Amino acid sequence: MDNARRTDRSRASGALIQTLESLHMTGVTHLRRSVSSPAGAAESGSASKRKPDRKGPSPGARAAGQDRERALDEVASQVAQCTRCEELARTRTQTVFGVGDPRTRLVFMGEAPGADEDRQGEPFVGRAGKLLTDIIEKGMGLRRQDVYILNTIKCRPPGNRTPSATEAANCRPYLDAQLDIIQPQFICCLGAVAAQNLLATTAPLGKLRGRFFDYQGIRVICTYHPAYVLRYPETKRKVWEDIQMLMAEMGLKVPRRRDR
Ligand code: SF4
Repeated sequence: MDNARRTDRSRASGALIQTLESLHMTGVTHLRRSVSSPAGAAESGSASKRKPDRKGPSPGARAAGQDRERALDEVASQVAQCTRCEELARTRTQTVFGVGDPRTRLVFMGEAPGADEDRQGEPFVGRAGKLLTDIIEKGMGLRRQDVYILNTIKCRPPGNRTPSATEAANCRPYLDAQLDIIQPQFICCLGAVAAQNLLATTAPLGKLRGRFFDYQGIRVICTYHPAYVLRYPETKRKVWEDIQMLMAEMGLKVPRRRDR
């Protein structure tokens, strides 16, 4: 990319963040997507079934993917300098933005970075991350790098405490920008913090899981956080049920019987 285009991109991204910040300051917490519903799922109740492209993405798709990558990089550099949450900015090792394919259909959304993530700068890399990778790869038959993984907030709360409502609100423009750039068809919320913040509800996770929600044209399913599953292994079966629902909605082949 030449310097002029890079500058334009940087300006556009900065303007996007500023706009989101201004809206946020005036109490706006959600934006309607200006793009057409990516899956058409909200209207039709069924997901578009993109066939796997064995030859790889077309040149146009590759270019679009590169644009999204650059746009995400711009937002990530804003996040890296962010000090909106004074305590988190002071205590973090680094910000943890997100990782994966910017052209993906599926985003996994967690709560906040933990100690391992804070150290490595990547979401879901500890024991819980290994379990999420198993869910994606062994359970869904995808590769971890084929989805996008992000958190509700981008800095580790000290002692892994639950992020406050203010911290989640402070970080919301960055999450909105990520989703706006990626334009996923599906979001899988991992745990109550992700689900309640995305869907603006106080309902417990037990009442949110097992069904789909519409979030600005994106099909959203909520399930237990992998860290919770590690603490309470009896929830594993419920997570697998939710993941099977997601796979069916995405048009992925669901194994008839599987004991996980
Ligand atoms: S959690 Fe988000 S809003 Fe708060 S300091 Fe980190 S990047 Fe900024």
